[in-house]
Amino acid sequence: MDLYGIGYSNIRLPNDRSSYIYTYNSYINTFPEEVFVHEFLHSLERILQERGYEIPELHDYQKYGYKEQRLIGLKEWYKDYMNCNIKSSDGNLVGLDSIVYTLTPPAESDFKYTTELDFNNESKNILEEAKNLFKAIFRMFGIK
Ligand SMILES: [Zn+2]
Repeated sequence: MDLYGIGYSNIRLPNDRSSYIYTYNSYINTFPEEVFVHEFLHSLERILQERGYEIPELHDYQKYGYKEQRLIGLKEWYKDYMNCNIKSSDGNLVGLDSIVYTLTPPAESDFKYTTELDFNNESKNILEEAKNLFKAIFRMFGIK
């Protein structure tokens, strides 16, 4: 997920512990870890794309003949994506270039305009949303 064009993946889980998403059901939750793998791979995909690498789009599994399977979802696609082991139409193997695993994590200087998110104070309506947005902007410029 792209967050205001700054390239972050965001996974949000409900606070309510009784939510059905915390109950494993093999008929509903196929490969439940997939959401974390998926969003993490988007980060790696973006790192390489920003450096000019030509790699398959993470969502293009069908173009390369992969199908979502019961219980394991797109596990095979993700495995081949990470190992650069996807057969392309021209016979080459494509996927994430292994250089992505050697790149250093982002430094503080990469986050020039960050604002701390307050997950305990989540907006409940559009007015609160606007208010929180302006608060964040003011904080960004050091205005309290
Ligand atoms: Zn995605």
